[in-house]
Amino acid sequence: MRLAPVTCTSCAAPLPLAVPAPQVPCPHCGVANALPAEYVQAAELRRREAEARRQTEPLWRALATGAPTWSKPVALALIVLLPPLATLVAWLIPRLELGAVAITALVSLPSLLPGAALWIWASAVAGTTLRFRAALTARSEGNATCCRGCGAPLATEPGALAATCGYCGTDSLLEKIPVGELARSLGEAMTTLEEGARKLRARRATLGLGTFGLALVVGGSSFLLWLALRLAA
Ligand SMILES: [Zn+2]
Ligand SMILES: [Zn+2]
Repeated sequence: MRLAPVTCTSCAAPLPLAVPAPQVPCPHCGVANALPAEYVQAAELRRREAEARRQTEPLWRALATGAPTWSKPVALALIVLLPPLATLVAWLIPRLELGAVAITALVSLPSLLPGAALWIWASAVAGTTLRFRAALTARSEGNATCCRGCGAPLATEPGALAATCGYCGTDSLLEKIPVGELARSLGEAMTTLEEGARKLRARRATLGLGTFGLALVVGGSSFLLWLALRLAA
């Protein structure tokens, strides 16, 4: 059921539909507006839906925090430290009797994987979480917080995570996500598609070089360690 928003008889502002009562005060001018019976019924239905929403909120909060904050520093530490450490350990265990090539293939390179996998997982979780939060966030029109579904104003409770629209029943998150601002500042830096393509190509090249460079640093430090041990022996 989707109802058209009721407007204030005095100032014509659209009214939020929250409390199942025959009268609703206008948040702009304070005038009490009479609600048609079907709107009161809808508000009653939404009140029960909002109850269900509140029970889901803890689950959402737990899921929407993204990857733990330690995951990227730990991933980076694993990428940088684990290959030389594993190489050193493999070298120091004489019983293994591994040659330099075998140590590189069986120990140094595979030991890059835990850190790389953790890094990829954390990035993917962060990106996905942000997309979901952005998709479910309420629209903002001037000072009013509006339903992401039908655009009607929302009655928001202080400190609430989300609000249920009285008109269409859609839940909208009430948090502020700077995605729009981020995209806007990036958008202002690119007027033409040519500029956009150039910046995107540079960005992709940086990402590729970064990955390649990291592999080179790790491989190089493993090799130097091996060389140092070999010279010391
Ligand atoms: Zn009004
Ligand atoms: Zn709505």
